[in-house]
Amino acid sequence: MSLVVTDLHAQLEDGTQILKGVNLEIPTGEVHAIMGPNGSGKSTLSKVIAGHESYEVTTGSVTIDGADVLEMDIDERSRAGVFLAFQYPHEVPGVSNANFIRAALQARLPKGEELDAVAYYKDLYSKMDLLEMDRKFTARAVNEGFSGGEKKRNEILQMMMLDPRYCILDETDSGLDIDALKIVAKGVNAMRSPQRGILMITHYQRLLDYIKPDHVHVMAEGKIVRSGGPELALELEKDGYEFLKEAATA
Ligand code: ADP
Ligand code: MG
Ligand code: MG
Repeated sequence: MSLVVTDLHAQLEDGTQILKGVNLEIPTGEVHAIMGPNGSGKSTLSKVIAGHESYEVTTGSVTIDGADVLEMDIDERSRAGVFLAFQYPHEVPGVSNANFIRAALQARLPKGEELDAVAYYKDLYSKMDLLEMDRKFTARAVNEGFSGGEKKRNEILQMMMLDPRYCILDETDSGLDIDALKIVAKGVNAMRSPQRGILMITHYQRLLDYIKPDHVHVMAEGKIVRSGGPELALELEKDGYEFLKEAATA
């Protein structure tokens, strides 16, 4: 079982090429990290996998467990088991967190089947406890007036509740304070499982101090240019992305 990206090329509506042949395989049971300079196409990769409409795939494929993801609409992708953290609307005015997640879970059940509310709240509260979230949080509207750290926690909560087979976390460049970072890491680490593949996208090495990846990839100019083990992240922290320039001029 794996999420496989093969020779993926994607462009903007105006024809600007952003992804220029990405190859990546994330088997269940593994955590992969993609690092790389700003503007290298990391977020675009995650959005293309999730089905964002701004990008057109011109060549290549994305499959999960053999199924063609590019043929699926956004909802089908999520039902098929891909979850992109931070893809959800920034705010959903008037809809409480608890109801938002409940509706998402209900939507996945076969027609006529009702979500067990008691079991749902039990599960929700146990996950909130792990993420050190206040119970009052359930009644608040989704992301309305949340701090950056609260939004991240909420997204991890959504992810934990939806229990996807493949998780993609695109850490935005807006910094989390160290406490929020640790909590996010705790949630992600709790989700590590032989049945799940996780892709962490991050500009900074910092997050990888708390979530140890099995494999690290470097993206530059729309391609994966280097792959290695967790030591690659440490090397990048120490030496930066200078090697990319050396490689380009070599
Ligand atoms: P990263 O996440 O690695 O910082 P992005 O995937 O966000 O990189 O962006 C890669 C390049 O594509 C950047 O030059 C960015 O400006 C451009 N880009 C991505 N999405 C869009 C878009 N919707 N409209 C215009 N430019 C875009
Ligand atoms: Mg960026
Ligand atoms: Mg980005």
